[in-house]
Amino acid sequence: MGSIRRDKNAKPDMRTTMQLGAVLSKTAEVRNGHLYVGGVNMAELAREQGTALYVMDVAQIKQQLRAYKEALGEDNIVAFAGKSFLNKAMVRLLAAEGCYLDVSGGGELAIALAAGFDPKHVIVHGNNKTETELTEAIEAGAGLIVADCFEELERISRIASARGITQSILLRIKPGVVADTHTFMTTGSEDSKFGFGITDGWAERAAAQALQLPGIALKGIHVHIGSQIFAISSYADTIEVLANLTENLSKNCGFTPEIIDLGGGLGIAYQAADEPTAIQELGQLITKQLPKAWEQRGLPLPTIIVEPGRSIVGTAGLTLYTVGAIKDLKDIRCFVAIDGGMTDNIRTALYDARYESVIANKADRPRDAIVTLAGKHCESGDMVAIDASLQTPEVGDIVAMLATGAYNATMSSNYNAQVRPAVVFVEDGTATLVQRRETYTDLMARDI
Ligand SMILES: *Cc1c(COP(=O)(O)O)cnc(C)c1O
Repeated sequence: MGSIRRDKNAKPDMRTTMQLGAVLSKTAEVRNGHLYVGGVNMAELAREQGTALYVMDVAQIKQQLRAYKEALGEDNIVAFAGKSFLNKAMVRLLAAEGCYLDVSGGGELAIALAAGFDPKHVIVHGNNKTETELTEAIEAGAGLIVADCFEELERISRIASARGITQSILLRIKPGVVADTHTFMTTGSEDSKFGFGITDGWAERAAAQALQLPGIALKGIHVHIGSQIFAISSYADTIEVLANLTENLSKNCGFTPEIIDLGGGLGIAYQAADEPTAIQELGQLITKQLPKAWEQRGLPLPTIIVEPGRSIVGTAGLTLYTVGAIKDLKDIRCFVAIDGGMTDNIRTALYDARYESVIANKADRPRDAIVTLAGKHCESGDMVAIDASLQTPEVGDIVAMLATGAYNATMSSNYNAQVRPAVVFVEDGTATLVQRRETYTDLMARDI
């Protein structure tokens, strides 16, 4: 990788914290120059708990879950995508809000079960679930398993029937819709490793096979077209494709899906200017356009499932860091070194993601500097923000990187034997540690 050049034209945006628009969580406010979230002073919290630190605004998470439930109506189901953010406290919050949970793999299922989550409300995903993972899911009584390939249909059938169980499943379908997002975040095109294609006839073959196999109850079809999607048309296109597929399955296989699972993917604001699609707009498609498409084809109305992850937790989260060193390389760039980086936020390096950040203890000041927030790890690509506006930083300041609630903690690593940050929930002026910081002992716990 060549060096990333400073954008010479980049000018600080002079925004103060409260001018960052949809990037801010519901309860973000500035009091006496300090950033508060959930009624808690972020700079103080950072000093109490240490940094790097993940903070989650519980009111924001609840608001998003409730917005989905309201937009979809009583008869449909909201299943949170656990891979975006998961720990036992989150599982308990989902259960209290009456939501289902998507898991990908045995580890996420184990967390859900350990937190007492109702297995009937679990949907199991993955494009190559192992024999062990399938056995664990079937024995636990998982509500739905989403079969991704012919091999899995055989495996589910064999494992379930050996135990006298009839496992409810969905078929993962590739709708052939290319979502308007980063290539690594599209999953619904025909050139995707996920699911059964339609035009190649795999979807109909899979349905025919699933209907014949013992130990399987085929309930419906599932799609997930990608993530961080802004264009609502991607969903509208998908609904048309699924209506046609449903009609064909009904005619050619004698199978009419009772469940249509539309996956997740709704985008959020990462930058102040971003205007993501509202949950309510997606709700309109699901409660108006979809029933219309089904009625036109004389098909009975299915139950709809959506599986949002990022749009539930993304904006609710922020990461706090302490500034440790500043290297102002005059005509090149200003490096501001923080006490985290690619181990707690890999998305910048992986997807070229952009984030907004503020100095939590200078939150009322305009962002009058252009800086690159560099991590502490042994990689030049270890940067969490490149040429971004920030209040002029000093060593010891607390940086709050905004909208890091999704795909940060769950993608964290121990590179450089870095201990992973703690997770704190904030709500109504109270901070609750829900996942402690790792220790050096944790790092060596598996060594024999
Ligand atoms: C990742 C994923 C989701 C959640 O996607 P978001 O973009 O976080 O909403 C939902 N369903 C499946 C199958 C996924 O793989």
